[in-house]
Amino acid sequence: MTALLIDRIGELVTNEPGGRDPLAIRRDAAVVAVDGAIAWIGPAGGAPACDVRVDAANRAVIPGFVDSHTHLVFAGDRSGEFAARMAGERYTGGGIRRTVATTNAAPDTELSANLAYLHRELIRQGTTTVEIKSGYGLGVDEEARLLRIARTVTPETTFLGAHLVPDSYLDRPDAYVELVCGPMLDACAPHARWVDAFCERGAFDADQCRAVLTAGAAQGLLPRLHANQLGAGPGVRLGVELGAAAVDHCTYLSDVDIDALAGGATVATLLPGVEFATRSPYPPARRLLDAGATVALATDCNPGSSFTSSIPFCIALAVREMHLTPAEALWSATAGGAAALRRTDVGTVTTGASADLVVLDAPSHVHLAYRPGVPLVHTVVSNGEIAYQQGIQ
Ligand SMILES: [Zn+2]
Repeated sequence: MTALLIDRIGELVTNEPGGRDPLAIRRDAAVVAVDGAIAWIGPAGGAPACDVRVDAANRAVIPGFVDSHTHLVFAGDRSGEFAARMAGERYTGGGIRRTVATTNAAPDTELSANLAYLHRELIRQGTTTVEIKSGYGLGVDEEARLLRIARTVTPETTFLGAHLVPDSYLDRPDAYVELVCGPMLDACAPHARWVDAFCERGAFDADQCRAVLTAGAAQGLLPRLHANQLGAGPGVRLGVELGAAAVDHCTYLSDVDIDALAGGATVATLLPGVEFATRSPYPPARRLLDAGATVALATDCNPGSSFTSSIPFCIALAVREMHLTPAEALWSATAGGAAALRRTDVGTVTTGASADLVVLDAPSHVHLAYRPGVPLVHTVVSNGEIAYQQGIQ
């Protein structure tokens, strides 16, 4: 049995539900983790002796970030495309094909090494739970390979065979959807928890997405959806109708879309790194929150439309560009991400939850947005163990 104590916490963000303050902040606190779970929360200096002691020295401690939307398994670099976009070219999503080609040409060892590098990058920035999608294989064996590799770092894996119609099926997209719903799903389901589709003009329409999500559900996968990224469309309403845990992007929303999300069980996941990197308008986050929707913030880390692994960067964008308060942004990147993954054991600092905590090199969580671009992650505890310490690991 290993016990870890974080003592002398100046500000502890717990996200404990039920109170008036969604962050449920405690002052002058201490937390004990035993065997990977939070066993005790109490006043600073009042904890029992533990094997490992971290002195927070009056810093802020928050739940580890829950990044509920990434595409971390890929090969290749698309910085040239980014530079062209910043010089005025429009984003269309077509560059995904380039990543599919480089990914399928890469051996497992290269994909695993790239994933390990990026996963480490996430941890160093405070992310302790991550969802990873396939979608750069677009073939039966290719998609299954990406999910197998993703599974080595997280149980939150998502089958996204319906990311884009591959070149070889361009003249018969319905045949590709049949492949996705049949042999590809059979090969991928054992390695995935979720099923996803890209519901967008130029990708898949509502009927095709419905077929994919329904077929996935029949094999025990839980639905989520890429929706309303490049324009208005039926994606959000389809996701809500099918009981998706989350609809992701939500950049272009009608009043009907917002009503559908308000107070419902489907989380609106916002990915402001995409709007930043594609120079697009930001999602109407304020309207969503004011209507009572649950909002999550995630990175969408991928080589084309959002190559950031930094949740603190996304929090800063959400506050500055989407008018979330610093508290709303932090909640969305922790408890909101957990809701988007239907998890109650992460995104919170409560007794019995997974001991995933971040000590910030700051006295308050507000600094995440107040000091953008500054590396404020001091110590990361994942599953009750120190996963990163500034200047040490
Ligand atoms: Zn995505």
